[in-house]
Amino acid sequence: MSETRHTRVLIIGSGPAGYTAAVYASRAMLSPILVQGIQPGGQLTITTEVENWPGDTEVQGPDLMVRMQAHAEAMGAEVISDHIQSLDLSKRPFTAHGDSGTTYTADAVILATGAQAKWMGLPSEEKFKGFGVSACATCDGFFYRGREVVVIGGGNTAVEEALFLTNFASKVTLIHRRDSLRAEKILQDRLFKNPKVEILWDHVVEEVLGNEQPLGVTGVRARNVATGAETVVPCDGFFVAIGHAPASELVKDQLELHNGGYVKVKPGTTETSTPGVFAAGDLTDHVYRQAVTSAGMGCMAALDAERWLAGHEG
Ligand code: FAD
Ligand code: NAP
Repeated sequence: MSETRHTRVLIIGSGPAGYTAAVYASRAMLSPILVQGIQPGGQLTITTEVENWPGDTEVQGPDLMVRMQAHAEAMGAEVISDHIQSLDLSKRPFTAHGDSGTTYTADAVILATGAQAKWMGLPSEEKFKGFGVSACATCDGFFYRGREVVVIGGGNTAVEEALFLTNFASKVTLIHRRDSLRAEKILQDRLFKNPKVEILWDHVVEEVLGNEQPLGVTGVRARNVATGAETVVPCDGFFVAIGHAPASELVKDQLELHNGGYVKVKPGTTETSTPGVFAAGDLTDHVYRQAVTSAGMGCMAALDAERWLAGHEG
């Protein structure tokens, strides 16, 4: 049944940014509504150990997100299982339509829809995700101490991930589909000088190879794009670093975006190009992309929204 719900603050997204915004907005007595989307709990629900969330030496990603939801609800946020299919930011109150048929109107909106790593789209990549295939060296690099890894990509992310992995791995092979990197020159210099790094130019990965029991990666099969010759690179970990896609579809024609689709915010704040609309987390952040930074931005967004509402209500 279709209904209309009004809230002072509508939070879209249930990752660390969204739930943290909900905790702060609730404690500011704003009675926020948080719409979870199709991935309740966000990206951390698809990983296992998280070892860099302050206060927990090790916590399972899904457990952490269950706790964050409980925290937001205990503070008074209403958490709704729905997915926003359209959002109108052209006039206030802002209007959002959910897949459930519910229409949400809001005096302020906090966007926390996150970003998703781009994947190669190989069936073998899908099979070994979480079992040797990763899109986050900061998150998973630690598990490859003294082992060999492969990174795919030629941009800043791939080079940074490869350099970061040299802190743990005995060897890092960067595979790139062309004969030059698009990463910044300073990063390239560091990469070329690192004795643990080998670069396989002009190659694309065709298949991730691995064992069934226990499920795990043993190498990748790569093809030379010029000659067609195939080669197997042995490795224990395969890191995909071919870019991220921010989930900015809802607002792509309504807000200023930059860096390939990330929502642009005024530096040092979460204010977007539309007053009353705030953005937090991976949706705005092409550099750090961490749970703790997303949570920090969620806090900022709630405080920014609270101040903005105080100046625009009544
Ligand atoms: P996300 O967590 O991306 O959440 C986005 C939310 O928006 C989701 O709930 C989704 O359902 C919702 N949403 C999207 N579109 C809509 C819509 N239209 N309507 C309603 N809701 C919508 N970081 C670390 O700090 N440590 C780690 O160990 C770590 N490990 C990781 C492991 C993996 C496999 C991955 C993929 C990431 C990892 N990260 C890690 C990164 C971390 O998960 C992200 O930085 C963080 O989750 C971003 O939080 P967020 O709140 O911005 O968005
Ligand atoms: P990116 O710049 O878009 O680079 C993606 C890389 O992956 C490219 O080299 C591309 O190859 C390759 N690639 C894409 N699809 C592929 C596929 N299917 N198979 C094989 N290779 C594929 O992405 P990014 O490196 O994540 O960077 C995104 C943005 O964030 C950029 O603006 C970047 O500058 C910024 N960033 C900045 C920093 C920093 O300032 N320190 C750090 C990270 C990211 P081609 O080169 O052939 O296209």
